[in-house]
Amino acid sequence: GAVSATSNLKQVKLERESELRIEVSEEPLKLRVVNGTAEIFGSELPPEIWRTFPPRLKFAVFTWYGATIEMDGVTETDYTADETPMVSYINVHAILDARRHLAKASSPDDPVASQGPRVIVVGPTDSGKSTLTKMLLSWAAKQGWKPTFVDLDVGQGSITIPGSIAATPIEMPLDTVEGFPLDMALVYYYGHATPSNNVELYKALVNELAQVLDRQFVGNPESRAAGMVINTMGWIDGVGYELLLQAIDTFNASVVLVLGQEKLFSMLKDVLKSKSNVDVVKLHKSGGVVSRTGKVRQRARSYRFQEYFYGLSKELSPYANTMGFYDLQVFRIGGGPQAPRSALPIGSDPVSNPLRVTPVNIEDRDLLHSVLAVSYAEEPDQIVSSNVSGFVYVTEVDIRGKKITFLAPSPGILPSKILVAGSLSWLESVEAR
Ligand code: ATP
Repeated sequence: GAVSATSNLKQVKLERESELRIEVSEEPLKLRVVNGTAEIFGSELPPEIWRTFPPRLKFAVFTWYGATIEMDGVTETDYTADETPMVSYINVHAILDARRHLAKASSPDDPVASQGPRVIVVGPTDSGKSTLTKMLLSWAAKQGWKPTFVDLDVGQGSITIPGSIAATPIEMPLDTVEGFPLDMALVYYYGHATPSNNVELYKALVNELAQVLDRQFVGNPESRAAGMVINTMGWIDGVGYELLLQAIDTFNASVVLVLGQEKLFSMLKDVLKSKSNVDVVKLHKSGGVVSRTGKVRQRARSYRFQEYFYGLSKELSPYANTMGFYDLQVFRIGGGPQAPRSALPIGSDPVSNPLRVTPVNIEDRDLLHSVLAVSYAEEPDQIVSSNVSGFVYVTEVDIRGKKITFLAPSPGILPSKILVAGSLSWLESVEAR
């Protein structure tokens, strides 16, 4: 705006165990700690150094012992709060820490005792699940553990893009702006923003991810002892609830943290009471959690795509690549064209197999603006059980020249010629400019 040249310096003094809650406006915000110590979602801010926070970010600067914060810029809102659930959250961390020490001290040959806590965070939408997950991971990493973060929320995709489930080791407290590291991530592409599009596929991928992690843990006592923190989606009734139970079971969760809903807590407590090795813990939702409408979530998804290809502040330029139609193969999982009833044997059900892999005709132009996953599968029938190396974004389909042009975040040839389509598309021209 017209006044952007003038500085908007503001100092805020925070008492012990209080936080400054900020919603960044459409302009970036600069912030630093001038006195004392403070952290953002479990990750400590270095003293004195200015950090720039991107537009629309919502976060809190929390202090255990008191701090003075300086802001430069105009925020959407900022206010201090001295009522937070942080003490209860850090108490959970302390218990997890003790369990990690026990696991580390056990013989690696004892698969049960050497396994650190496997924590799963559940709760309705906007209860602060992702935020609690970040805190637990950053606090653990600060103490030298390397816990594994597992993200099952296909709606947001905090490790990579929406539509995927993924896991990654966390070796350092999370960067307060950059979020989760991507370079060591194990990613499976589901292709839709909600599990309801293909529940069986979602389950199959969760299963696949859990098995691969289990295999990796066998040879890695350090990761085993540090355990996992699993973030889930906010869909908690009906099929959503069943999927939570499946995740708890598949990942062998030992601690279930229920945020902000009494009913879900008592339901889980009840179904899990026969399992003596699973603790179900109820935690309060923070008053600072910002609710998001469907439209805001939709926009957030677009920004995640933009971030993947262009970087957080559009500092990256993706690589354009053109390939002939016959140099690659695109597949879709489930829901492909169904055979007409007349073509099926009498008495059989025309419902398609949710895990069936069907080729997509590139010449339909339907792929324009879609995001495709680059699969590690060598054959189409390995697609469901294969993770993906990354994603490309289709910018042009040239029917006459039989060529397809796409953007990729890194240069060079694709590690595989098998691409997977879902139902997610992104209008880069609208969002990225
Ligand atoms: P979903 O179910 O959609 O994944 P969630 O339960 O994971 O949501 P979060 O993503 O953790 O919720 O929180 C929602 C938003 O509120 C985020 O933008 C987060 O940064 C913000 N937020 C969380 N806690 C605070 C706080 N104490 N102060 C300010 N903002 C906060």
